[in-house]
Amino acid sequence: MESNGSILMLMKLVVLQYLAVVCVSQDFDFFYFVYILQWPGSYCDTKSSCCYPTSGKPAADFGIHGLWPNNNDGSYPSNCDSNNAFQPSLVSDLTSSLQRNWATLACPSGNGIQFWSHEWEKHGTCSESTLKQHDYFQTALNLKQRANILRALTNAGIAPNGNAYSLSSIKGAIKQGVGYTPYIECNVDSSGNSQLYQVYLCVDASASRFIECPVFPNAKCASQIQFPPF
Ligand code: 5GP
Ligand code: 5GP
Repeated sequence: MESNGSILMLMKLVVLQYLAVVCVSQDFDFFYFVYILQWPGSYCDTKSSCCYPTSGKPAADFGIHGLWPNNNDGSYPSNCDSNNAFQPSLVSDLTSSLQRNWATLACPSGNGIQFWSHEWEKHGTCSESTLKQHDYFQTALNLKQRANILRALTNAGIAPNGNAYSLSSIKGAIKQGVGYTPYIECNVDSSGNSQLYQVYLCVDASASRFIECPVFPNAKCASQIQFPPF
C-alpha cells in the first residue's frame, strides 16, 4: 500500500517536472520590444560602405532594422526556436512593403530575404508566442507609420544635409514628434565623424504601443553629431 503511494507521488512529480519544462520552453519571458530604425546615409558612408538592394536604391528615409524582444534589465533572448525558420511565403503579401521599409544595405546586394531571416530567427522567434511570423513583420511595418522619425526631425529644422546637430536637439525633436524618448546610436563616417546611425524606441510586450524605455544602452555619440544625406 505504502509503495503504491510512493509510486503515485513519484509519477505526480515527474508530470509536474515535465509541465514545468514545457512552460519554461514556451514562455520566453520578455518584457518589451526594442524597435530599431537605421539611417541609410550613415550605414553607407562608413569605411565599409554598403550595397543597395537588388530592388534599387531605397528612399531617403529611416528604414527598419529590427523589432527585438528584451528583458527588463536590458538583456535579451536570442535564437529561440530553430524549428521556426523564416518562410518568405508567409509574408508574400508584405514583400513590396518590406522592400520599401525594411531595405537591406549589407554587401553583397540582396533581395532582403537574408536580412529578414536573420531578424526573424535571432529575435522574432523569441516573441513567437505573441507575434507569429506574418504578425511580426506586419507589426514592424505598422510601427513605422506611427513613428515618422524623419518628419519629426525635419519639423524641428534637423535635416539630412551633412550638418552637425546637438544630440539633445535630436532626442528632443523625436520626443516631440513621436511622444517617447529615443536612444540614439552613432557610428562614424569614413572621415571619423560621429553621426546619427540608429534610433531605438521601445514598444510594450503586446507590441501595441510605444512606451518609455525601461533601460538604455550606454551612449556612444559625441554631443554634436552629423546627419549625412542619402
Ligand atoms: P551591437 O553589438 O552592434 O550593438 O549589436 C549586435 C547585435 O546584437 C544587434 O544587431 C542585435 O541583434 C543584438 N543586440 C544588441 N543590443 C540588443 C538589445 O538591446 N536587445 C536585443 N534584443 N538585441 C540586441
Ligand atoms: P543584427 O545586428 O541585427 O544582429 O544583425 C544584422 C545582420 O543583418 C548582419 O549580419 C548584417 O550583415 C545583416 N544585414 C543585412 N542588411 C542589413 C542592413 O541594412 N542593416 C544592418 N544593420 N544589418 C544588415
